[in-house]
Amino acid sequence: MQWPGIIGQHAVQEILQRCIAQQRIPQALLLVGNDGFGTMALAIEFARTVNCYSPVIDGHSVIACGSCQSCTQARTLQHPNISIVSALPTGKLDASDELRKEWVDALYGLAHDLALNGYSPTRMEGANEIRIVQIRELNRQLSFSMTQRGRRVAIIANADDMNVSTANAFLKTLEEPHADTTIIMTCSRRDRLLPTIISRCQVITVPALDESTLADALMQRGSHAPDEARIAASMAQGDYISAEAFLAEDVRQIRDSAVNLLRTSLRGKDFRPALTAAVHELIGQRDRQRCLAVTNALLLWLRDAYAIVQGGRRVHLLNADQQEPLERFASSFARADFDAAYRSLERAAADVDRFMPTQLVMLTTMMELRSVFLQARR
Ligand SMILES: [Zn+2]
Repeated sequence: MQWPGIIGQHAVQEILQRCIAQQRIPQALLLVGNDGFGTMALAIEFARTVNCYSPVIDGHSVIACGSCQSCTQARTLQHPNISIVSALPTGKLDASDELRKEWVDALYGLAHDLALNGYSPTRMEGANEIRIVQIRELNRQLSFSMTQRGRRVAIIANADDMNVSTANAFLKTLEEPHADTTIIMTCSRRDRLLPTIISRCQVITVPALDESTLADALMQRGSHAPDEARIAASMAQGDYISAEAFLAEDVRQIRDSAVNLLRTSLRGKDFRPALTAAVHELIGQRDRQRCLAVTNALLLWLRDAYAIVQGGRRVHLLNADQQEPLERFASSFARADFDAAYRSLERAAADVDRFMPTQLVMLTTMMELRSVFLQARR
């Protein structure tokens, strides 16, 4: 059985459901992967299921009933056993030992949105750090006895938002045994957590969604048109939240800007200032998501061009609305080494993943593409 509201991730669901069905629920779980792969959505569904009064069980598979008193409370995350800890904005009252009311209200709002859609943002606007007062508050709550039967689940969103002293305070939380309690952390990169924290958790990797699962989800959940869903899915690197963001920004616009960048890089000898300006305009210095979207858009566009080189006019193009410019490009650069161009774009994506400065990556890549394509013209 699949948990409702979760996109794909059958293998991870099976592992988590099996833990619950066999009543071998870990004290601490670390879900490694982007929010857009479903880490938070999975954590919430796990919390609902362990608290459900009459779960639906089928072998090693288990889902919440959705209608008992506990499920009703959990639907909006107004549940005494379920809490979410998420980063707060840095402000003047940093040293304050109390959680300000506006923060508490904002965190409630965040939890409410996540309850309705596990693929909502997990950080409130401007938030960048999980504070030590939040961990103290969590410890205080966990020290009370439970007011409602079930299992306490504390979800720490983006656990790498803790600084070292907060992480050390949190380590004590993990070391202390709490009855009927599971702490679930989410984190996109495990190398950003203290090894001492990781060693106390059962670690589950939540992989990127595959392209067709993602495209289907965009069509079904987001009611996006098939063509746009497919383009966004191939640009989003398996991340549903990114894909939705691209669609909100208009994938075609990103694609058109990316193709303009390519055209600028192929201009005559004075191309440099124009290319630098175009890169700066299109991509912020740390805008990794945008940089990946641009490289992916170029990759898809060049694949279409190469398909025309190979198969003529009758091939099915992903960028179907670009038939004419693609044909022109294909006839100008039919002899180009497209494989070298793909490799260059793939290397760019890898560099962005390694946190290299995005504008530099993009400029280097466009210079490489220039050399690949202009060579073929000579
Ligand atoms: Zn239930």
